[in-house]
Amino acid sequence: MSNTSLQLTNGEIFSTMMEMQHEQMVFCTDKTTGLKAIIAIHNTTLGPALGGTRFWNYTNEDDAIIDVLRLSRGMTYKAAISGLNLGGGKAVIIGDSKALANREPLFRRYGKFVNSLNGKYITAEDVGTSTGDMEYINMETDYVAGKPEQLGGGGDPSPVTAYGVYLGMKAAAKYANGTDNLKGKKILVQGVGNVGYHLVERLVKEEAIVMISDISEDRIKKVTQEHHVQVIDKDAIFETDMDIYAPCALGATINDETIGKLKCNIVAGAANNQLKDEQKHGMALIERGILYAPDYLINAGGLINCYSELEGYNRERAMQKTEIIYPRALEIFEIAAKEKITTQAAANRIAEERIRLVAHINSRL
Ligand code: NAD
Repeated sequence: MSNTSLQLTNGEIFSTMMEMQHEQMVFCTDKTTGLKAIIAIHNTTLGPALGGTRFWNYTNEDDAIIDVLRLSRGMTYKAAISGLNLGGGKAVIIGDSKALANREPLFRRYGKFVNSLNGKYITAEDVGTSTGDMEYINMETDYVAGKPEQLGGGGDPSPVTAYGVYLGMKAAAKYANGTDNLKGKKILVQGVGNVGYHLVERLVKEEAIVMISDISEDRIKKVTQEHHVQVIDKDAIFETDMDIYAPCALGATINDETIGKLKCNIVAGAANNQLKDEQKHGMALIERGILYAPDYLINAGGLINCYSELEGYNRERAMQKTEIIYPRALEIFEIAAKEKITTQAAANRIAEERIRLVAHINSRL
């Protein structure tokens, strides 16, 4: 699995799907509601393909196809590494989510399309969709997770995601420093939104020296009112001395410009796709002696939360299942060091091996 730019030129959908090993892609349209959606199913060896529906105003259809192919493949790896019996899938709806005032018709129509796949794909929230939208989808299909608590859902997944990030960070500290105690460690949390906020809470409780940065004054105010933390200007992050950098805002913050400046020995955060180029920047971190906790493993709490919903939701059990992240991260660090590969490559290897073995078992009587 690689992060580096994928491209699709007209007429190359099948060869791109073959290359990325997708099983199926479904194009859905509806003139009355204006629905234009694509559902991509990457791999269902481990179970039904679960992944959110992103509602985004793509500049062109190729971009939407590339995004759904890339994101659905990422879900296969995330489920596999987290030990879940789930495959990888994702969907995109093309359009301006904020401009859609009457959401019921479009999401119910979309729910019918999801239902037509008979459970091969299970949808959930993503950028541009909300729990309210999931309720509309749920009127037409049971194959939806990320529902509000009053509908038997798991509610806000961010506390579970934050718990996983915290455990991944502790595993990295254990591997790099010989102890997973974060007391006195200088930790910078970039982005104190849903996940960052809950992560800060755990770190403060463990008596880490917590620094935060956010572009939103409101978010900073909320955290500083509740906790003793130092605020770092968003442009001063890479000039700041720290032990652990926790990106919890945007992707690609580890890139050619920032990598030489980073003053830490661990990177462990919630943001997706933290390395601009998985291989290049993963290797550059190794050269700089910085341990990278693979994003898609340590932020898997949100997916684990959705999975728990399918079994009859129980937050305690979701938290417990999230604890797999700690030993899994240690296993990854050991393989990466032994094989002299990036931690992301080691994670990919474990995920692929699990899928290969389960496919083998499935082929037996
Ligand atoms: P969020 O939108 O609630 O929070 C992101 C925060 O980052 C916001 O407060 C925003 O103001 C801030 N921000 C944006 N640009 C910034 C910048 N340049 N510098 C500093 N702060 C900046 O999102 P979230 O739900 O907390 O998710 C955070 C990250 O984790 C995202 O990348 C998301 O994809 C990923 N993630 C989230 C979950 C989950 O359960 N919410 C699960 C897996 C992955």
